[in-house]
Amino acid sequence: MKISSAEFVMSNSNVAKCPNEPLPEYAFIGRSNVGKSSLINMLMERKSLAKTSGRPGKTQLINHFKVNGNWFLVDLPGYGYARVSKKDKKTFQKYITEYFEKRKQLVCAFVLVDIRHDPQPVDLEFMEWLGIHQVPFTIIFTKADKLKPAVIEKKADTYLQKLLDGAWEETPPHFITSSTDRTGREDVLGYIQNINQD
Ligand code: GDP
Repeated sequence: MKISSAEFVMSNSNVAKCPNEPLPEYAFIGRSNVGKSSLINMLMERKSLAKTSGRPGKTQLINHFKVNGNWFLVDLPGYGYARVSKKDKKTFQKYITEYFEKRKQLVCAFVLVDIRHDPQPVDLEFMEWLGIHQVPFTIIFTKADKLKPAVIEKKADTYLQKLLDGAWEETPPHFITSSTDRTGREDVLGYIQNINQD
C-alpha cells in the first residue's frame, strides 16, 4: 500500500467522541516502550506522526489518524508502565475497554510485543481479554533487528507456542517488524489493504 496521506484527526478519552465516520479502523496497542510510535511512523513514512516516547505512559489518549482518506489508524496508549498511578491505570482501563467493546468500526487490533522478550503476563492477559470480547487481533513482533536473523522466527514460534499451551486453540496472525530497517512494513500494510478491499 502506498501511503499518500496520513493526517492526525483527533485525540480523546471518550469513545463516543471518536470520529463519526464509517471507515475501517485498525488499532495499535502494546506495553510502553514496545516501539509502537516508531512502528506507526515507519508504516506511515513520517518522522513524528506518532510521538516517540520520551515520557512513557503519558500519551493516555485514543489518537485517530486518517490514512489515504479511507481508513483510520488508531494509536492507543501503552499499558503496563509501572510509574503510572493506580487512578490513571483505572481511567485508562475504563476507556480502552470501552473502545474495544463499543467501537463498531474496529476491524483489527495490532498487539505489539518486543520480539526479544518472553511472553509477559500483562500481554497474555490482554490478549485473553480481547479473545473473550471477540476482538480480532494480530500480533506484531517489534525490534527484530535486535536479534540475529537465525533466531527471529524461532523466538516468534516459541511465543506463539506459549499461547497454544495456554487458553488458545489456534494462534493469531503475526508479523515480524523492525522500525529501524523497515522489516515487515509491506506485510502489515498489505494485510490492511487486503481486508479493506474485501
Ligand atoms: P512506544 O513507547 O511503544 O511508543 O515506543 P517508541 O517507539 O518510543 O520506542 C521505544 C524505544 O525503542 C526507543 O528508544 C526507540 O528508538 C526504540 N525502538 C523502537 N522501535 C525499534 C526498532 O524497531 N529497533 C530498534 N533497535 N529500536 C527500536
